[in-house]
Amino acid sequence: MIARRVYGIVRAASLLVATALAVAWAGPAWKALQHDTPFLVGALGIAIVLGVLRAPTAHFERSERPTPESYRVGLLAPLLICVLVQDGWIWAAACNVLAYLVRPSGPRRRALTERVLTASLRVPAWWAASSLLPPLHAAVAGPVTLWTAGAFVGIATGFMLLVDLLWIDPLSALRQSRSLLRIWRRHLADAGSMAVVVAECAWAYVAARIAVHDGGPMGVATLLPLVLLAVVLVRFARVNARLHRLSLSRAAVDAMLGANDPMPQVQSLLESIDPRITRESVEIAAFGRGGADRWSRVVRFGPPFAELEVERLGRRALLELQVTGEDTAFQGDSDEDGSVSAYAARDEDGRLRGALLVFRSPGTQPLVAARDFERAAHELGPLLGQYGAIAATRTAASIDVLTGLPNRRGVTRALQEAMAHVRHGGRYAVLLLDIDHFKSINDLLGHSTGDRCLAEIGRILGDSIRGVDVAGRFGGEEFLVLLRDASRERALQVAERLRAAIESGGLAYADGKPVTMSIGVAYARSSDGPNEVVERADRALYRAKNGGRNRVVESSLLAG
Ligand code: GH3
Ligand code: MG
Ligand code: MG
Repeated sequence: MIARRVYGIVRAASLLVATALAVAWAGPAWKALQHDTPFLVGALGIAIVLGVLRAPTAHFERSERPTPESYRVGLLAPLLICVLVQDGWIWAAACNVLAYLVRPSGPRRRALTERVLTASLRVPAWWAASSLLPPLHAAVAGPVTLWTAGAFVGIATGFMLLVDLLWIDPLSALRQSRSLLRIWRRHLADAGSMAVVVAECAWAYVAARIAVHDGGPMGVATLLPLVLLAVVLVRFARVNARLHRLSLSRAAVDAMLGANDPMPQVQSLLESIDPRITRESVEIAAFGRGGADRWSRVVRFGPPFAELEVERLGRRALLELQVTGEDTAFQGDSDEDGSVSAYAARDEDGRLRGALLVFRSPGTQPLVAARDFERAAHELGPLLGQYGAIAATRTAASIDVLTGLPNRRGVTRALQEAMAHVRHGGRYAVLLLDIDHFKSINDLLGHSTGDRCLAEIGRILGDSIRGVDVAGRFGGEEFLVLLRDASRERALQVAERLRAAIESGGLAYADGKPVTMSIGVAYARSSDGPNEVVERADRALYRAKNGGRNRVVESSLLAG
């Protein structure tokens, strides 16, 4: 909070200085521009073009996320240093501020005052640069030697680095309430950027010499390739960003297929989008999973957000996205109960696949710009599309084709969820059912009759349980039933009902007698692993078989 206030004061002071300079220098500046100054006019023009192009900074090829979004204007250094030498620090500052103000994206959504404030932060740095003018002039004026070239490049590089380290970095640390040391460490470790700064300063040396000795137009000509380079770099960064996004989605898909939990991958995607995201609580909602017209929460992180009111606002925001077809929706009053912003995530075909919901508690300062969330949602769209497809395949892979019930894999997952419920104080009864003398059906009536028998038993079991209970095919002719929150009495009651339903289900052996099942019942304990309770049910089932079949036997170990 204090840091941000200091940042505000520094900005206001910079603006004051910039305005005072603009007023004091407006007359002389206008005169200077009207005189024969093709270099200055050309340099201002190039600065504007570079600002509009918004070339990625030196980091582009080393960056984890190579999109052109650094706050530092790329490729300007040769031009600014050249203008500094040729026309003084005021004009260097003017070029810098101008290039910053015309940048199309980035601060586009900020108010003009905000942009002017931020741009004017550059002015004090250039004022400090005026003290470097004598040695720079001397290096440019004399004949070309290794020594003068080295001195020029050294001084200019040192200046650019010091501005970054002592002015821009502390300001961004203040703005983002981040550790300055960490910013410095990352900055200094970026060898690629360092090399580019040196190269830019060498370019400045050549351009400044040519401007001084061969005249302004020649100086401008040596700076013109900057524009070409900027165009190439912007293209390059776009391609890079697309490739990067592709590799992220592929990694996410791999993770989803490989593990039960795809979320670390989605989370790392979001973190790569902005590490400061944790101030707000962020949720990813996927659309259309688990039934049409339904939203389901894929992941939520950041501070917990329990308030019911905000949950309600979240649902309203999602509905708004869905109904209006807009890309953003906002609900709530940020001063009272907190607010929710929803950003639509669409796939390549423009279909709504999900949304990024950002919950903000009352009084929380937004640290992350809305357009960062928009971009995150944009990147998430295709990912959520793939996630939906994978979820559908996964569901298909967990269903037994013969009976239509969950297969071993599906039952195992249900069992894991049941055990988690038990560890949180809930109850589960586990029934293991095995068809009696099933081999004789296969042997005497044929395998396909056996299959039909299995399918019919699956149907009877599925129809005989409640929605919260689970019946699945556990193996060949074995079924598993999970009864949620069932007492011992109820579990035995249900087991007996299932046994009777099979017996009276109209299925018959070769000798005409009704097909029957034996059932073992066990009760999950909070200390159980998923296998242990099934083993107990299996032992009970074994006793049911030994006791004459067509009966229910419960495990001696009761729930605990
Ligand atoms: P009991 O359980 O009463 O002791 O006798 P059983 O005859 O049922 O014994 P067992 O468990 O050994 O036999 C299971 C048989 O189920 C063996 C196998 O051929 C058959 N089976 C397993 N899966 C299928 C299937 O998908 N379709 C058919 N038709 N038969 C299957
Ligand atoms: Mg068996
Ligand atoms: Mg059997």
